[in-house]
Amino acid sequence: MQINWTISCLAFLIFISSCKPSDSENVIELNPKMHTFSNYDKVTTKHLDWDVNVDFKHKNIAGIATWTFENKSKSKYIIFDTYDLTIKKIKVNGKDVQYFQTPMIDDYGSGLSIPITEKDTIVSIEYNTGQKATALQWLSATQTAGKVLPYLFTQCESIHARSLLPCQDVPANRITYHAVVGVPNGMMAVMSAKNPTMKNPDGIYEFDMEIPVPTYLIALAVGDIEYKAIDNRSGVYTEPSMLAKATAELSDIPAMMKAAEELGGPYRWGNYDVLVAPPSFPIGGMENPRLTFATPTIIAGDKSLVSLIAHEMAHSWSGNLVTNATWDDLWLNEGFTTYFERRIMEKITDKSYVDMQWELGYQDMQSDLTTMGMDSADTRLKVNLNKRHPGDGFSNIPYEKGAVFIRLLEETIGRKQFDIWLNNYFNKFAFKPTTTEDCLKFMDEELFKGDTALKNNIQVNRWVYEPGLPDNCPRSNPTRFIEVDKNRTNFEQQTAARNLITKNWTTHEWLQFLRKLPHPLTADKMKDLDETFHFTVSTNSEIADEWYKLCIASNYEVAFPAMEQFLTNVGRKKFLEPLYGEMIKTEKGKSMAKAIFEKAKPNYHPQTAEKIEKMLK
Ligand SMILES: [Zn+2]
Repeated sequence: MQINWTISCLAFLIFISSCKPSDSENVIELNPKMHTFSNYDKVTTKHLDWDVNVDFKHKNIAGIATWTFENKSKSKYIIFDTYDLTIKKIKVNGKDVQYFQTPMIDDYGSGLSIPITEKDTIVSIEYNTGQKATALQWLSATQTAGKVLPYLFTQCESIHARSLLPCQDVPANRITYHAVVGVPNGMMAVMSAKNPTMKNPDGIYEFDMEIPVPTYLIALAVGDIEYKAIDNRSGVYTEPSMLAKATAELSDIPAMMKAAEELGGPYRWGNYDVLVAPPSFPIGGMENPRLTFATPTIIAGDKSLVSLIAHEMAHSWSGNLVTNATWDDLWLNEGFTTYFERRIMEKITDKSYVDMQWELGYQDMQSDLTTMGMDSADTRLKVNLNKRHPGDGFSNIPYEKGAVFIRLLEETIGRKQFDIWLNNYFNKFAFKPTTTEDCLKFMDEELFKGDTALKNNIQVNRWVYEPGLPDNCPRSNPTRFIEVDKNRTNFEQQTAARNLITKNWTTHEWLQFLRKLPHPLTADKMKDLDETFHFTVSTNSEIADEWYKLCIASNYEVAFPAMEQFLTNVGRKKFLEPLYGEMIKTEKGKSMAKAIFEKAKPNYHPQTAEKIEKMLK
């Protein structure tokens, strides 16, 4: 999202009217590069005590956020980020104080300035969340799998934590937290912290996250949630009706963890559990420490989509341990993690599987490069999100271009040497905000070691600071896709669908098959495929999504009711945006898209609904 800058600028500098104009320190200014109002670099929050109640009736969270802070620069104010929060009372070291909150700016919210003295270390803010809270999704009972109790989950990345609680909402600052959360009877609350394994009859849950994390990793889910262990440090949280299936699907977590530790060093966060969220969860997964939040669309029944868990697990090193200092450096989180994910999958499956992942990822990256334009500044690894919402940086570029760049390093340097460097990198920057420049400097020192010819050969600066794709990009040629392509060509010529040899195909082979078919495809061929493989009623959401794209392009109306059902039940952005994008290409499609959106909207996360609404305008 690009904010309307001319209007926002007016609100940029707001002097606090109740204070002396000479009080230059008391200027609440949005830092457009760091996307924060807070003065975290002068007065730094260290620890949060969060004492709140979750109110499903009024759809808000109310209580007290008590922050312990360090006033390194002897500032007279501590400034927080807030978004649609109602502030009721503020105490500093136990005494009531007057505070000031700026008017709200789109995307960024309001700055909250609180006077402090040099001796103060604690501020308590009594507040409640608002109806526009972008971090919160409230589901009615009918929107859950069990249909008995309502459900709440949060999604704070990138700058949505400020709509959950007043905080210094920048990835460069890390905090520990303790929380006491009250929820209605019969529900369980879980957080990115040490979690309960049983429901409490009194509905009060207590949490500790004693390892410092950035605010975007604060997470909460509340609902009819139960726990099932997989081994002594991993298990699954989800609604009771999904528990057995989800636990069976994710039974490889211990093997993944073993593979991850061999590559990244010891896992430092204690338990590793997965919350399988309700269908409207807006993204694939979120690497909340100790408790990955994951979409139920990965539960395909054959473990074919669990690489998403390997991805979120890998974030325990790249992202949660070594964190991008600014959102411009997002590729440090996502590129390293996508690479790391494939190394984990290589260990628990085999190279032929991972080659397919690399190739599909390459296709995703190419698709974005084409859409954005090879000369677009947003196709650089280090982007410039100054004066833009950090959400603008989330494309396949930081993920897939970032990952192939790391793969190029590994292939050029050699796996053994590269793995040593990667391990040292995680150790050196553990718990520190890390910039692209920190990372490149460490490559110079410990990977290239003065070998400028090697560095130039890799074209490091081109990869990181220039748009498009350098000519030395590695690409896989999956042997399993050779068979797929042969079958596809046969089908395009005259072979009937029932005569194709597809017996051992996994999700990846089907994706390759569907993606490479001509768009549009003739009505006869669509019918033949559907009657043979039943794509329209597929319960594998990756395959269904790819099929529906082909259906829209081919105007295969038979599939439209099922597609509408899919678009209403599933909230994952990755599926929704391309489908709506495909529909709006024609006038007829656009009116269908609008009609579906009107029905489906209540099931979508506010961030997703907003994005699609813009697409449909
Ligand atoms: Zn990720």
